[in-house]
Amino acid sequence: MSGWQRELAALGELRADEPLARHVTLGVGGPARWFFRPGDRAALVAAMRLVPADVPILPLGRGSNLLPPDEGFPGLVLDMGELANLRVAGREIEAEAGVRMGRLARAAAEAGLAGLEFMATVPGDVGGGVAMNAGAFGQEVADTLQWAEVVLRGGETRRLDARELDMGYRRARLPDGALVMAAGFALTCDAPEAIRERMRSMRQRRGATQPLAQPNCGSVFKNPDGDYAARLIEAAGLKGLCIGGARISEVHANFIVNEGGATSADVRALIARAQAEVAARFGVRLEPEVRILEGRS
Ligand SMILES: Cc1cc2nc3c(=O)[nH]c(=O)nc-3n(C[C@H](O)[C@H](O)[C@H](O)COP(=O)(O)OP(=O)(O)OC[C@H]3O[C@@H](n4cnc5c(N)ncnc54)[C@H](O)[C@@H]3O)c2cc1C
Repeated sequence: MSGWQRELAALGELRADEPLARHVTLGVGGPARWFFRPGDRAALVAAMRLVPADVPILPLGRGSNLLPPDEGFPGLVLDMGELANLRVAGREIEAEAGVRMGRLARAAAEAGLAGLEFMATVPGDVGGGVAMNAGAFGQEVADTLQWAEVVLRGGETRRLDARELDMGYRRARLPDGALVMAAGFALTCDAPEAIRERMRSMRQRRGATQPLAQPNCGSVFKNPDGDYAARLIEAAGLKGLCIGGARISEVHANFIVNEGGATSADVRALIARAQAEVAARFGVRLEPEVRILEGRS
């Protein structure tokens, strides 16, 4: 360990060569050279001050939309899981990046605040939800997000108005290298029981249509305009296709599941195959929704 790693280790637990497969829901991916879980926002800001500019940084939520390479990640992974404070104030809720979206949805329902029901069905954290503009059942983060507090390399913090993030279908434009530390949502009032009922019904629909019992990363591809990635993949005859330990799900063709022992390369090969076949047959380019991390070059 040299200078900055020693200083970081003084702020909290710093692990070397931590397998990323343990931290992403698909269960694939090699080691992160360095892995740090800041205990609070101050430790995160301090970490961002310490890390030299040439060390790549990867923010990590629940890893429910992330495909790391088998070679691993050569820089520092910042796991946001300990930043888990949540505060309800009138019709607004502030949540730190590591708050699970499911917990946020339940807290909103309890307070009689509507607009986050879909979050009960999305397994990620608030930070990942903002970065991805997560959404389902006609709702998305952008509908209710008011602001995001971010930290930049070097440790500068900023509170950005949601409009500055220019959010679109499964994307937000964060400033270069910015990590979301916390977010504020403005919601509307409704009866807690009505909100909970909507959450129940969304969860039920999910359970019936998605392969939730096997490791996966949710939708692999974005839906192209006016169509569904799952329909195209199924029409190309790829449902059930297996490469190594990874399979295009029989339950939902826009899901890839890890049947045990899959590698990141297996999953990437399935992604490439689906893109090639769908492009050849239907002239449609499927764009990955899952964030694919490049390996060492
Ligand atoms: C079973 C299942 C169902 C799903 N259903 C849905 C759905 O209905 N709708 C939907 O939109 N998604 C869905 N997803 C995908 C995923 O849950 C969402 O994209 C979620 O928002 C990712 O959150 P996360 O915390 O897991 O982020 P991660 O997977 O950890 O990270 C995703 C990306 O965001 C970045 N990131 C993470 N935290 C931060 C931060 N604090 N600051 C800056 N960048 C950050 C990461 O570097 C990465 O690029 C599903 C996934 C699964 C496994």
